Amino acid sequence: MAISEKFRVRFAPSPTGYLHVGGLRTALYNYLFARKNNGVFVLRIEDTDRTRFVEGAVENLLKTLEWAGLEYDEGPKISDFRLPISNSIDSINYPGVVQLGEFGSYIQSERLEIYKEHVHQLVEKKKAFYCFCSAERLEQLRNEQQQKNLQTKYDKFCLHLSQDEIKKKLTDGLPYVVRLNVQQKQTIIVDDLIRGRVEFDSSLIDDQILIKSDGYPTYHLANVVDDHLMKITHVIRGEEWLPSTPKHVLLYDAFGWEKPNLAHLPLLLNPDKSKLSKRQGDVAVEDYRAKGYLKDALVNFVALLGWNPGTEQEFFYLNELVEQFSLERVHQAGAVFNLDKLNWLNFEHLRKKSDAEVLQMLKAELSTSKFSGKQFADDYLLRVIEAMRPRVSFIKDFTEQSSYFFEAPTQYEDDAVKKRWKEDTPVHLRKLIEAYSLLENPTKELYEAVLHKTAESLGIGNGKLIHAVRLSVSGVSGGPGLFDILFILGKDEVIKRINTAVEKITPIITHP
Ligand code: GLU
Repeated sequence: MAISEKFRVRFAPSPTGYLHVGGLRTALYNYLFARKNNGVFVLRIEDTDRTRFVEGAVENLLKTLEWAGLEYDEGPKISDFRLPISNSIDSINYPGVVQLGEFGSYIQSERLEIYKEHVHQLVEKKKAFYCFCSAERLEQLRNEQQQKNLQTKYDKFCLHLSQDEIKKKLTDGLPYVVRLNVQQKQTIIVDDLIRGRVEFDSSLIDDQILIKSDGYPTYHLANVVDDHLMKITHVIRGEEWLPSTPKHVLLYDAFGWEKPNLAHLPLLLNPDKSKLSKRQGDVAVEDYRAKGYLKDALVNFVALLGWNPGTEQEFFYLNELVEQFSLERVHQAGAVFNLDKLNWLNFEHLRKKSDAEVLQMLKAELSTSKFSGKQFADDYLLRVIEAMRPRVSFIKDFTEQSSYFFEAPTQYEDDAVKKRWKEDTPVHLRKLIEAYSLLENPTKELYEAVLHKTAESLGIGNGKLIHAVRLSVSGVSGGPGLFDILFILGKDEVIKRINTAVEKITPIITHP
């Protein structure tokens, strides 16, 4: 490759419904490689398998990549008037999607003519051939081969048709596919940047179909043609595509094209070392997003699934990953998906967010929660954030663990009532209410001092009042410091809540 040429990589997902975390890892490594090397990151949609087409999947994919912050330089983007529309082509099948870059369309279903032209070149060069075999014949062939314990593969029957026969069948409108004519007994060598040298025996490779009977190309053909035409220099993808690679090598050779560099990323595994699957937990990026994981945490987490910096560092922002990433440090062994680590990273990333950022996230969370109808001042929310920060791993923990900041408790924890609410508790609390009523704009220190004084005058320990007040204002027994809670809620609300608790909670009568 000429020195002046830029590295070009691509993420080439098939839109089958959602973005798999493995897909996010592939996208991320391509992104990091491109950014690190000042290269170009291309997004290409591989939607030629119409049987797997899912409505809305492309849009979902684009939005999920955008959420993750993995900006690509070329490819389809959700239309936005701020985009420089002048160098974009409007997408045909995907209204509302525009395409950036000079090699578009980047959506394979919009490139069918290109694949046909290219396959035609192969037919002319006798590297590929028309096959008119019926499904029945192929089925019979397969059965015979299986009975004889032979490898099941096409027997090149149609390779021997004469030009006239082919012409006649085509004019008669017979359905056909186009197959690659795979030469037997050749060793196909793949020099993988991560796996090293891998050899394949061409005798085990079928005369693969390049164009299907519906006129659509197969993944193999479209993938190779596009990687070539889009000038991709490095193909970085999951290990599950390694078995397809010899087929791609044969195709590059058949076209007479230079092959891109190849790098196959290690498999993602469950903790029991089985392949990461939906059965054992969430694999869709959007599920993690819905559960409240921060994009920084998820990106940081998937970056470490197969790569490490060679140091102890585990906490990374995207720009640090760009600085440190290299394919040399991607390992071959499968990478275990450890949810505890993801949770830890989420906690750490949330901890490092500024108050202003957490405020925005909390407001967004509140707007979709059961408290959506209520208004809270920013100052108030900032105080809640300060008190709860050391205790939350997720933004939704604010509303789930400390809902009492957003509405008065309607229930009181049973165990705490049994333990903390005695026959004389209401009397003690009324005394405290009297004392609190006299305060003007109390600070948290004042709430504390007045509580201590009241306890003293009642001749009881501070703890008795503290636990009863906590239960009254929050309904639960844990949480941040009581006087922080009182200060945040404000005097009127505190008094109101203690009064309600005194009315609602029936004292537990303890007989001596
Ligand atoms: N369309 C393939 C996928 O869904 C792309 C594989 C590749 O990167 O070559 O992952």
